[in-house]
Amino acid sequence: MTALQLLSDSEVDSYQPTESQRHAVIARYGSCNFPGCTMAASKCQMDHAKEYNRGGPTATWNLQPLCTKHHRLKTLGEYTVELDPQGNAIWRSKDGEEVTSVPEGVLKDMRRVTLDERMQRKHQVRREKNEAIYGPVVEEPAPF
Ligand SMILES: [Zn+2]
Repeated sequence: MTALQLLSDSEVDSYQPTESQRHAVIARYGSCNFPGCTMAASKCQMDHAKEYNRGGPTATWNLQPLCTKHHRLKTLGEYTVELDPQGNAIWRSKDGEEVTSVPEGVLKDMRRVTLDERMQRKHQVRREKNEAIYGPVVEEPAPF
């Protein structure tokens, strides 16, 4: 697996996350994403923050590691969770208590790169390569 694969968000059609999605999610969170839980992410189950049967995709941005106990509490409806694209989670108990958890893994600062940002970067890289070969690009107004 390359670092790029680890850093990229990905989405698959199946319920089961791929191995590379698992690795990416483990690297991002480090431990169970329930507030205060320290169970190693590698020993956790992969939870679809927005449930798969409610249209939640098997995508790295919708997956979080939860230990058996906390996965069960969520499945039973004791808690609901809202996960943002940066991996911050707002947990709400049935009683309305709210607690936030933030990713703590080695890749915790991983965030979604928008298509626009990706295209800008691609454009920048292409421009630099062209300039290295053909010299600086002179921006001239169109002749009409
Ligand atoms: Zn836990």
